[in-house]
Amino acid sequence: MEENPFISEKYAPAPESTPVALKEAYGHFINGEFTEVDESKLRESRNPASGKLLAMVSEAGGDEIDLAVQAARRVYEKSWSRLAPSERGKYLFRLARLIQERSRELAVLESMDGGKPIRESRDVDIPLVAAHFFYYAGWADKLEYAFPNRKVRPHGVAGQIIPWNFPLLMAAWKLAPALACGNTVVLKPAEFTPLTALKLAELVEEAGFPPGVVNIVTGGGTAGRALVGHDNVDKIAFTGSTEVGKQIQKALAGTGRPYTLELGGKAAHIIFEDAALDQAVEGIVNGIFFNQGHVCCAGSRLLVQEGVAGELTRKLEHRMKTLIVGDPLDKNTDIGAINNEPQLNKIRAFLEEAREQGLEIADGGQELPEEGFWCRPTIIKNAPQSCRIVREEVFGPVLAIQTFRTPAEAVEKANNTRYGLSGGVWTDKGSKIFKVTSSVQAGVLWANTFNKFDPTAPFGGFKESGMGREGGLHGLHPYVRLD
Ligand code: NAD
Repeated sequence: MEENPFISEKYAPAPESTPVALKEAYGHFINGEFTEVDESKLRESRNPASGKLLAMVSEAGGDEIDLAVQAARRVYEKSWSRLAPSERGKYLFRLARLIQERSRELAVLESMDGGKPIRESRDVDIPLVAAHFFYYAGWADKLEYAFPNRKVRPHGVAGQIIPWNFPLLMAAWKLAPALACGNTVVLKPAEFTPLTALKLAELVEEAGFPPGVVNIVTGGGTAGRALVGHDNVDKIAFTGSTEVGKQIQKALAGTGRPYTLELGGKAAHIIFEDAALDQAVEGIVNGIFFNQGHVCCAGSRLLVQEGVAGELTRKLEHRMKTLIVGDPLDKNTDIGAINNEPQLNKIRAFLEEAREQGLEIADGGQELPEEGFWCRPTIIKNAPQSCRIVREEVFGPVLAIQTFRTPAEAVEKANNTRYGLSGGVWTDKGSKIFKVTSSVQAGVLWANTFNKFDPTAPFGGFKESGMGREGGLHGLHPYVRLD
């Protein structure tokens, strides 16, 4: 494997600095191979923790999207849609195994390109990526059991657009069920984090997928719009902001083309007086500071029962100070770099506004590195409902705290949001868990834990958090036509 010139000496001694082979510049992965690089259409992909250039990546417009869609259509008609389902499954199993074999490299690259702590990419993201492919590989030849007494057909060409917060995991959530159901795919990763998807393209090639079954086209909003607007794409799957999700809904209105939207969130994390508080603090920390809070289902609103609000906040503040913010490739790091500059500016604007409003803000007080994009873990105490920081998705390590007296008030406050993606409850009483989780309008609810994912479990939102589900049996639905 060639030496990676981009890993600095600073990172070199760490055991996590598994060499990552990167090209200087990437074309698009279309029809089973990388296209030639057009130097006039390149964008930089930089490490958000150091500012170092990692690679140059191609920027697609309508022409490149069209080429990819044509490739996906050709192979769909010619072979993929006719392949025995068990054969489709074999390709997916092969890919899952290759991901496992290369998991160290993928984890390091994910942390370099996206800024997330290596402990998370190594122990959470990449194992889940492999698990997703294994899980859906298993479904490929069992669709008739998933949908008994129905004729099950794929849609054809699926256009898939993903965000930057879990780059490879979101690619897996999209690709695995689509391919298992017999669709071919054009996937567009986010402009800030294209590198692991391009590495995945190499593994797709290695796994021997017929050319054109998986196409990976890089670029930003222009490429995304071209994919959504392409009339030879049969199904759109989008994960990203509610704002862009609404634009996609408008663009597809009246076309009859099916789509799924996985959008933003503002989850309530509810702590009752009878909860095990020390464990709840760990759950809260994981709920909001995991992946720098760049998590659609982050527990970004903390609702604490009044009797323990003071004690819990003190414990949380104390714990916040112990979190290590810094080098994503250091295995001790708890909070890595903010993924990109616009996102850092957005988080800062939220905090500035909260300061101007006179809200009580506390952070962990960590010293931050000079280079790169950073934000300390931060809490806003007694945040009023009227504040933007309570109502809108910050998508950063910022927690808004509110209190409640009764379970009914907790549920009312939890539901006082335009989002409905996730939520959590901590209590000693099973009956309270049952009551709260059946009253909070959210697609995913955790009890005495938070941010736990499994390929067998459906994930998705209500209200402005989107429509459709990914994961589990439910995740097959969006990729099949049932007669
Ligand atoms: P974003 O909406 O800005 O971008 C998402 C993707 O859409 C990117 O690939 C981008 O290039 C592309 N895009 C931008 N404009 C487009 C357009 N007009 N048409 C088509 N594609 C377009 O979101 P982001 O900032 O990358 O991601 C953060 C958001 O994603 C947050 O709101 C988060 O909650 C959400 N998210 C949701 C889930 C979920 O499962 N519900 C999971 C992860 C992230």
